[in-house]
Parts: sequence; C-alpha cells; structure tokens
Amino acid sequence: LPLMETTRHISALIEKLIDYESQLAAQNRKEIYADYTPDKIALLIITLAMILLAFLLYFPISKSIKNSEQRLIDLALDLDRVNKELHQASITDGLTQLYNRRYFDQIFANEIKRATREKLPVTYMMLDIDHFKKYNDHYGHPAGDAVIQKVAKHLRNYFKRPGDLIFRLGGEEFGVFLHSSQLDSVTALAQQLIADMQKLQMVHETSLTQNYVTLSMGMVHFTQGTHLSAEEIYQLADEQLYKAKESGRDRVVWLVQEGVNGS
Ligand code: GH3
Ligand code: MG
Ligand code: MG
Repeated sequence: LPLMETTRHISALIEKLIDYESQLAAQNRKEIYADYTPDKIALLIITLAMILLAFLLYFPISKSIKNSEQRLIDLALDLDRVNKELHQASITDGLTQLYNRRYFDQIFANEIKRATREKLPVTYMMLDIDHFKKYNDHYGHPAGDAVIQKVAKHLRNYFKRPGDLIFRLGGEEFGVFLHSSQLDSVTALAQQLIADMQKLQMVHETSLTQNYVTLSMGMVHFTQGTHLSAEEIYQLADEQLYKAKESGRDRVVWLVQEGVNGS
C-alpha cells in the first residue's frame, strides 16, 4: 500500500513537472513570437528579397559592365586608328600617295639638323618633269595626272631604303631626301633613274627633248651633315635643277660639299 502511495505521488510530481515545462516552453515561444512583429517580418522578407535580387542581378550586371568596358576599349582603339589615318592623310599627297608639301615643310629642317648632329651624309634631290605643259596641252590634264602617278611609282622603286623620303612638292615637281648614301652610289642611282624613264614608255610627241616623258634633276650632296639651313639647301638644289634644264633637260646636275660646314 505504501508502494501505491509512493507511485501515485511520483506520478503526480511528474505531471506537475511536465505541466511546468509546458508552461515554460509556451512562455518562451510567446516571447520569441513577440519579437517577430509584422514590421520586423516585413523587414526580414524585404532583406531576403533584396539579397536574392542582388544575387540574381549580379551576373547580368557584371557581364554588362564587362561588355561596356570592352566597348570602351574598342572605341579607344578605333579613335587611335582614325587619328593615325587622319595624320597619314594630312601628310600624304592625294594623287601620288607620296608625302606632300606640308610634310616636307614640317620635317625637312629637322632631318637636316639630325644629319648634321650625327655627321651623316645628306642627299637632297629636286626633280621636275620636262615639257609637261606641252604634255598636258597635247594629251589632256587627266593623261598628265597619270604621268605624275607613274613618275611617283618610278621614284618609289628607286628609293626604298628606310629613311628615304619622297615628296610631291607641287605640280610635277618632286623632292627626295636620303640619309647615309655614298656619293658614287647615289649619283649612279640618280642617273639610272633618269635613263630608265625611257622604259616607262610614256610617249611625249611634243617634247622638245625626247619622244618620251623625261625628268630633270638637281642634286646636292653633303658628305657629313651640313650647317646650311633647309632654305639654303633647297635653293642650292633648285639651282642645280635649273642648270639641268638649261643644259638640255633629261639629266642630273649635282653639287657636292664636303665636311660638316659644307666647306
Ligand atoms: P620644263 O621642262 O621647263 O619643266 O617645262 P614644263 O612645261 O614642265 O614647266 P612649267 O612649269 O612651265 O609647267 C608645268 C606644268 O605642269 C603646268 C601645268 O599645266 C602642269 N601641272 C601642274 N600640276 C599639275 C597636275 O597636278 N596635273 C597635271 N596634269 N598637270 C599639272
Ligand atoms: Mg615645274
Ligand atoms: Mg616641268
């Protein structure tokens, strides 16, 4: 009997304990739920939604940024290329694709100064098509233009070394600037160039010189740079060209000045 009593007692005790535990749990839950007010839940949902959105948007946005960066790089490269083309066009003669007068004026003096500084030989040639007015009068201006183009190509074939500069100075006049050429080879080359005009087979019936288009050349050569100014050198070459014209055309007349002072 006392055993029964004891069992009931324990059982009542356990029930009380369970009750107490349940109440405690309910209380805890209430407290926890009390924390989750609708505002807070809304905030939590919004935060989660934003994290999800950021996650979803990250890839397309980063891809689009990369694309924009690439487009910017492409644009910069295009701009650079266009700038170079513009510069090239600004120094190129449209008819012949040789350097133009503008470029000659820009660099001739500097090229000469550099040659003097480095004690390099300098050769400057001035060329002019003979009786070209008669050619135009007889064959027409477009045919004259074609002759100018062929002469330009001819010059390009003769002066191919790095640093060789060929200019169309205007009309049917050309300038050639050469570095580090020996006098013997450069005069031989000039004479060959004049002689080879016959091979181009450009018939010029009204020429008073030959029955084909010929060239006259005035050339100045300095063995190791020169202290003459660009204008003086230009003037000297022009004088030699004049002599070539006066003495019968279809030829080269040259002037050589030795030493750095051109003396
Ligand atoms: P010379 O032998 O003394 O050089 O006689 P020339 O007739 O060649 O010389 P001149 O300076 O009297 O005439 C040059 C001519 O070149 C005048 C012009 O009709 C022609 N000319 C100048 N520029 C051009 C051009 O771009 N195209 C053509 N077709 N002709 C041109
Ligand atoms: Mg002329
Ligand atoms: Mg001429």
